[in-house]
Order: sequence, then structure tokens, then C-alpha cells
Amino acid sequence: YAAKIHRNEYQSYRPEMTRTTQDRLRLESDLRKALETEQFTLAYQPLVNLATGRIVGVEALVRWQHPQRGLLPPGEFIPITEENGLILPLGEWVLLAACKQNKAWQEAGMPPIRMSVNLSMRQFRQHRLADRIQSILEQTGMPPEYLELEITESMTSDVEFAIHTLAELKALGVQISIDDFGTGYSSLGYLKRFPVDKLKIDRSFVTDLTEGGSDAAIVSTITSMAHQLKLKVTAEGVENDEQLRFLRERKCEEAQGYYFTKPIPANLFESWYRHHSQSA
Ligand code: C2E
Ligand code: MG
Ligand code: MG
Ligand code: MG
Repeated sequence: YAAKIHRNEYQSYRPEMTRTTQDRLRLESDLRKALETEQFTLAYQPLVNLATGRIVGVEALVRWQHPQRGLLPPGEFIPITEENGLILPLGEWVLLAACKQNKAWQEAGMPPIRMSVNLSMRQFRQHRLADRIQSILEQTGMPPEYLELEITESMTSDVEFAIHTLAELKALGVQISIDDFGTGYSSLGYLKRFPVDKLKIDRSFVTDLTEGGSDAAIVSTITSMAHQLKLKVTAEGVENDEQLRFLRERKCEEAQGYYFTKPIPANLFESWYRHHSQSA
């Protein structure tokens, strides 16, 4: 039994429930070190316009290149950084790195595409968030209309605060989308009061879309409701032709998923982009 625990320790951090204080302290100090020594990287996943087949954007997704444990997905460390506040410097690093990358692509002659960045609850509540983002936009020369911030439904539970914060962000000229839509408990009645541009339908509804269950009805309903509210719709987690056809028929604007590509490093994205643009 002891041997098993020992081995697991070297494979990954233990899930929240079984993590010991020691594990946690080590993880936190690793995270601090990771920020100082730039162990984080961004992977990019394209968003494709379903009417034209063109690549219209890309989502930046953070990874941790851990010196011993290899490449770690955000699910392994983002929740802890949200608890201990490290998400604030990490989130700022992500925004800066994503905007710099976008600028580099523009300078290399790539047509302008939108850059989507995930915000965490803690960031959303951060004092003077809009000012911080404004300064990143200025610092990197990123045109605000090409930056899209992704928030989740849970961030809108304090309705008045959310409306106020979203309005401040919108005033910068950026786009805002509600990520993982359908999985939270946001009140639909308030949706029309939030100054957002887009809903991203959660992958869990897209996966079994064509299996004859209730997911088809859910996706159709979210899409038509969004359109009536003048919001655009992105489907996440698209993996096959049937899903794509269904979404196209429902006039869903954009799709993202393994069907196109998994999230990939910047240099691979460049060649993927060139190839896709030739065949689209
Ligand atoms: P998300 O924002 O909903 O991102 C989409 C996730 O779905 C990504 O997982 C992506 O790899 C995965 N995905 C996309 N298409 C498919 C598909 O066709 N099939 C399957 N099975 N999966 C697909 P990833 O990169 O592990 O990110 C997980 C979550 O971590 C993100 O969900 C987001 O909530 C969070 N996250 C990632 N980067 C950041 C960040 O920089 N800041 C914050 N606050 N959260 C982040
Ligand atoms: Mg997202
Ligand atoms: Mg999402
Ligand atoms: Mg999701």
C-alpha cells in the first residue's frame, strides 16, 4: 500500500480529497517557482466559423511544463491557484502571453484572428481588472476587438456586480463570452441584462448530440434562445461530422473541438493554420 502511494506521488498530485498538507505545501511552492521560472505555456485551439469554414479565432489554454511530472493540464493546478490566489499573477501572465502571441502572429502576416482567454472567478473580482487588461492591451498593441474574455455562469451569480464589471470590460472594446454554458445555474431572466456577446455551449451537451437523447433538444433550445437575444453561439467539444452537420443546420456560428484539432503549441498552430486555410 505504501509503495502504491509512493508511486502515485510521482505520477500526479493527488485529488483534492486525499491530498495531505505536505502534498499541498509542496504543490504550492512548486507553483510559485513555476511562475518565477516561466514553466507555464499556452496551447491554442482554433474556433471555426461554420458558415465559411474559416478559422476566426483561437482559445489560449494554459499548461504547466513541470520539471519532473511533465506537461500538466489546467485541471491539475488551476483549482489550487484559485484557492491560494496565485491565479492572479498566473492569469495576468496568461493574458500577457496570449496578447503577445497574437501580436507575433500579426507581424508574421497571419490574418487577424480573435484570441480567447479564460478568466477565473478570482480575477473577475479583482480590483481594477479593467485597468489591468487595458494596460496589457496597450503594452502588447493588441486591438481590443480581437480579445475575447471567457467567463462562466457562476461568476454572474452576484448579478449587479457582474453587470457592472462586464460593462467596464465591454467599455475596453473587448468581446465577452459565457463559457461552459448550460452547466451552471445562471438565471435565464438575467441573461439579457448581461452585456455579453456569445454563449459557448458546454461540451457535455455536444458529445451525445446525435444519439437521440435530450441533448439535441438542449442544444437547439440554447442556440435559438441565444439568437433571439442577439448572442452568437459556439459549440465546444465537436468531434465528428454528424455533430457538425447538426450545429450547422441550427445556424450555430462557431465550433471548437478535436474534430479540427486538439489544443496545440503556437508553432504547430501556425502550420495547422496554413494547411487548414489552403483546404478550407
Ligand atoms: P474550457 O475553457 O471549457 O476549455 C475547453 C476544454 O475542453 C480544454 O481542456 C480543451 O482541451 C477541451 N476540449 C476541446 N475540444 C474537445 C473535444 O473535442 N473533446 C474533448 N474531450 N475535449 C475537448 P483543457 O485545456 O484541459 O482546459 C480545461 C479547463 O481549464 C478550461 O475549460 C478552462 O476552464 C480552464 N482553463 C484553461 N486555461 C485557463 C486559463 O488560462 N485560466 C483559467 N482561469 N482557466 C483556464
Ligand atoms: Mg474556455
Ligand atoms: Mg469552454
Ligand atoms: Mg468546457
